[in-house]
Amino acid sequence: MIIVIKKGATAEQVEEVSTRLTEEGFKVHLSQGVEKTIVGAVGDRTRIEALDLEALPWVEKVVPILAPYKLVSREFHPTDSIIRIGEHEIGGNKVHMMAGPCAVESRAQILETAHAVREAGATFLRGGAFKPRTSPYSFQGLEEEGLRYLADAREETGLMVVTEVIDARDVSLVAHYSDILQIGARNMQNFILLKEAAKSGKPVLLKRGPSATLEEWMMAAEYIMDGGNYQVMFCERGIRTFESYTRNTLDLTMVPALHSLSHLPVIVDPSHGTGRWQLVHPMAKASLAAGADGLIVEVHPHPEKAVSDGKQSLTPEKFNIMMADLAGLSQALGRPLGGVSSC
Ligand code: PEP
Ligand code: MN
Repeated sequence: MIIVIKKGATAEQVEEVSTRLTEEGFKVHLSQGVEKTIVGAVGDRTRIEALDLEALPWVEKVVPILAPYKLVSREFHPTDSIIRIGEHEIGGNKVHMMAGPCAVESRAQILETAHAVREAGATFLRGGAFKPRTSPYSFQGLEEEGLRYLADAREETGLMVVTEVIDARDVSLVAHYSDILQIGARNMQNFILLKEAAKSGKPVLLKRGPSATLEEWMMAAEYIMDGGNYQVMFCERGIRTFESYTRNTLDLTMVPALHSLSHLPVIVDPSHGTGRWQLVHPMAKASLAAGADGLIVEVHPHPEKAVSDGKQSLTPEKFNIMMADLAGLSQALGRPLGGVSSC
């Protein structure tokens, strides 16, 4: 249920609604908009009638949310959620570029890539220190050493860091070094991990499971919000279909669909979404045209030597060319690319 509070109500009046709900066993979440305050109440719907909240003069209406996702829905938060990370806002007017290698391989590799992508206009550095690999014999990541290199790169370039956490036991370690926790496609429904990520207080980039429906994906985000962490971003990274030419099928329909159903920002990953570097640039453009709030792209100084995902990684030169093109497109769309302010 959502309880819409009338404009001009005092903090005490909102508090009274929250207290009544809590006493009746509801879990309460507040959404403070510029225009309206909305109180989200999760619990036994039949008990809300007894509270007769609409009798309070400062309550506009009590509305049930019929969809299974509540806090993630636009009903709970009618305006777009903006996630503030350092000097950046994700979900605001600017579009953000997150770029870097699939995996952190060495200090030199991550620093070289960080400088190159920052030069080209990226605002976030990506790179996996914990890698979820299909084969146990593949490179599993540099773990904490890799996290340290990412933090060094942030220090040198001013880029914020987004990196994956694959195990609930590592959430506080990864949160210590990173600005955004990435939850990978294979872990979208790892509910223990989602709950731990909620507790970290760090923004979460929630990738879509390779065979997850929109509703399952939104329910996964609901876990994080229900855990008290409202800083969640969706990341469309392609789904498994019968098509085998591409690694995955990039489902860009999700961008406007999510924007209509949810207030949370949507990022697109055209690297994993296609699996082929040649398709990254055109699909990046398509993502912006579909309304993406940002992109996450794999860039490697020497893709042919990359320990993972070389086939879908852009060289810094190709990334630069793509960024120049996207800068023009994003201007035309009225959503300029974000940038790191120079120190
Ligand atoms: C990655 O970002 O390198 C990654 C493993 O992505 P996904 O979880 O989308 O496969
Ligand atoms: Mn990858």
